[in-house]
Amino acid sequence: EREVLGASARDTTPSYDWFQTDDMITVVIYTKQKGMNAELVIVDCQDRRLRGEIILDDHSYLVEVDLDREVQGDFAVNIGEKVGKVEIILKKKDRIQWKVLGLPLESHNTFIRRTERGLFYRKCKLVSKTEVTHDTKLFCFMLPKSTHLQVPIGQHVYLKQIIAGTEVVKPYTPLLPFLPLDFKEPFCQDGVHIYLMIKIYSCGLFTQALDHLQIGDDISVSSPEGNFKKSQVEAVEDLFLLAAGTGFTPMVKLLNFALTKVDCLRTVKLIFFNKKEDDILWRNQLEQLALRDERFEVQFILSEPAEDWVGKRGKISSALLSECMKRSKKDSKVLICICGPTPFTEQGIQYLQDLGYSQEEMHAFTA
Ligand code: FAD
Ligand code: NAD
Repeated sequence: EREVLGASARDTTPSYDWFQTDDMITVVIYTKQKGMNAELVIVDCQDRRLRGEIILDDHSYLVEVDLDREVQGDFAVNIGEKVGKVEIILKKKDRIQWKVLGLPLESHNTFIRRTERGLFYRKCKLVSKTEVTHDTKLFCFMLPKSTHLQVPIGQHVYLKQIIAGTEVVKPYTPLLPFLPLDFKEPFCQDGVHIYLMIKIYSCGLFTQALDHLQIGDDISVSSPEGNFKKSQVEAVEDLFLLAAGTGFTPMVKLLNFALTKVDCLRTVKLIFFNKKEDDILWRNQLEQLALRDERFEVQFILSEPAEDWVGKRGKISSALLSECMKRSKKDSKVLICICGPTPFTEQGIQYLQDLGYSQEEMHAFTA
């Protein structure tokens, strides 16, 4: 019996191997799991340090070594989706035989819970900064050539800056550079740029420093985190997105995914809570999308409207939700995603429970 247990333990723990040709080093990771994809593979190679992390559900497998010799700046990652094999192909700087892959670092060849793995940061360059509203900007950052990383739907990254001598870290949710209006094909991310829509607060510690970054400046960006799973949307018929202020950010990729990839989807409704009309993010794009795709509807609700605002007023409430959220048919499969200031999200969840929605029918985006 012991042997059987031993064998099964060996079977599920990932492992790695490496080999070389005259000018290449290939590191192979055997994940021993099906359904691998690019979002589950995070590779960084800088200053001779190679770090390859594989995300396997709530676990993470890590290969982390100080390479024996120098390699060139870029590398390739090949993912055998069905067989679960991941290859990292490095180019040698000199055509010399390596005796070893390198010096193992402390967490090398470990398979532990993701929550136990500290955040890893790499330096990204600010490429552009565009105004979205009077206080919100779209920042575009570029990953180094030596990084392979894609941010999955519903996940956030952490930005880190030293402010007045202290390290400050805040989470932000990557989105697309615009709302794709032609929803035939999912918008393809290039794997190089990360877009963040960030509200600059006049007394905000982090956002003030961020606003002072110049094009070309570096900032540390972490690997993605978050507990949203694509499978939550996969069979959904009616999708409701409740967003307040910058709580809109996780909804963008979600909208793109739902409208292109979810075949049974009948309706998507974004209920977007803001203070004033000029706080509404991407209003024009949202209205254009609603015109283009009859499955999509957007409703703006203002808590501090001008007198001439003809739309809905107020904050999130049970009455408002029951009025604004209608199923396309009786017993349709529903998912409600909610994101905004903590009190908004907490109250929203409570009201939804009161209205009879189950835990499985809701997802709250939080830290
Ligand atoms: P702070 O110095 O913390 O203060 C910001 C402003 O809010 C100030 O005016 C302050 O007076 C006030 N304030 C501070 N704390 C409170 C409070 N508890 N209640 C009321 N007012 C308060 N933001 C984005 O713009 N875009 C995103 O994509 C985004 N994604 C996020 C993802 C996650 C998972 C989480 C948890 C947050 C996200 N945020 C996002 C918010 C972001 O992390 C920062 O909190 C925000 O940028 C403010 O940081 P700051 O240091 O500039 O502000
Ligand atoms: P804001 O202050 O402009 O408020 C927008 C709307 O939120 C208001 O009009 C109101 O309808 C609602 N609201 C605000 N405070 C409320 C309260 N106490 N109770 C009920 N409703 C309330 O919003 P903002 O400055 O854009 O802030 C957005 C918030 O979303 C931030 O707190 C940010 O941390 C959070 N956020 C979280 C995530 C995440 O967890 N994944 C992602 C993005 C943003």
